Amino acid sequence: MRRISIFGATGSIGQNTLDLIRRRPGEFQVVALTGASNIKQLAADAREFNAEIAVTADENLLADLKKHLNGSNIKASGGSTALLEAAEMPADWIMSAIVGAAGLAPGLKALEQGTTLALANKESLVTAGPLWMVTAAKSGATVLPVDSEHSAVFQALLGEDAATVERVIITASGGPFRDWPVGQLARATLEQALNHPNWSMGQRITIDSASMFNKALEVIETKEFFGLKSNQIEVIVHPESLIHALVGFNDGALMAHLGAHDMRHAIGFALNWPNRRDLPVERLDLGRIAKLRFEAPDETRFPALRLAREVMQAGGLAGAVFNAAKEKALDGFIAGQIGFLDMARIVEDVLTQMSGTSGHIDAAVTLDNVAQTDHLARIRAGEAIAEQAKKG
Ligand code: NDP
Repeated sequence: MRRISIFGATGSIGQNTLDLIRRRPGEFQVVALTGASNIKQLAADAREFNAEIAVTADENLLADLKKHLNGSNIKASGGSTALLEAAEMPADWIMSAIVGAAGLAPGLKALEQGTTLALANKESLVTAGPLWMVTAAKSGATVLPVDSEHSAVFQALLGEDAATVERVIITASGGPFRDWPVGQLARATLEQALNHPNWSMGQRITIDSASMFNKALEVIETKEFFGLKSNQIEVIVHPESLIHALVGFNDGALMAHLGAHDMRHAIGFALNWPNRRDLPVERLDLGRIAKLRFEAPDETRFPALRLAREVMQAGGLAGAVFNAAKEKALDGFIAGQIGFLDMARIVEDVLTQMSGTSGHIDAAVTLDNVAQTDHLARIRAGEAIAEQAKKG
């Protein structure tokens, strides 16, 4: 039986992963399942899959988790050290699907095992891409992408010579605000931002899709994962979201990957790698779809893509600043402290502030430096949010 662990099991990616596991009884032995606040779900899944250990990232909820697991022989633990310990437990396949920068340290620890790691946590590559790739190379781990765009690129590259790749184009749905004028965007509410036209995802990535910050993170992720130059990566708005990515080769050919809006495709591809197996996803009916549309992204209304390019050019710890400021600004928007457009403004301000010598963004990309930079960027973003909230 294949031993598997899922970090972020209670989230959208984690639940989709468990859905696939559930359909193949007797094939997998679940080692560790982790969550944070959703203790009921974590305990229920740990019981259903007879996990060896259930871990909550929130130490304060450990007693609650223990109560829910009472009478079972499943071990319960809590806190950030417990997450790292779970990442050290031998497994043949590990899903990294914690949301945000919190996924970096457990992901790296899992990577050190030299196992197969399915990477949903894009923030790992955005904040610490070089460290991530060096750790993977040293341990001999196989990293498989789970973001649908990156899974698409990976699949389009199968059997190809990487040296013949001219460019990679990743698609963006444009989100719920694709056609909105700036004035309306400024008044966009949380509820409106959560209304994604195509995909059902966790709350944070859904809002990031509306602001195009998700696409910005994915552009940086593409650069790091596939070792491309920033000018080889393009974004195209494709409202149907059926083509996930295209790879352009030096003979002018463009290889596109199409699939339904269902994360179980990319998760299943990573789970079944290096084979392909039947997956419970919709088969596209192109006759019914009839039309696929494309348009250039508008970086005036959605500045996140421009900021991503600046971050890639700066390199070093700029990705850690970008992501932390974005996460903090997102918290501010969710809490109703700032408006939708303030998020990009605040991220840009923090990037500018920390690009000076005091920001140390050209320091080495180590876990400690990433953590310190992340901390400082959150403080700066917090100050900017407070200032903006005062202005109203
Ligand atoms: P969700 O918000 O649905 O789930 C996040 C998971 O992380 C939950 O298990 C949550 O626990 C846990 N978690 C939250 N905070 C912490 C923390 N501080 N420490 C440890 N664990 C924590 O996110 P998604 O599943 O949508 O996304 C997960 C990752 O995958 C993200 O990086 C996202 O960008 C990426 N991704 C997601 C896609 C999607 O379709 N959803 C598509 C492609 C990539 P709990 O719920 O118990 O609090």
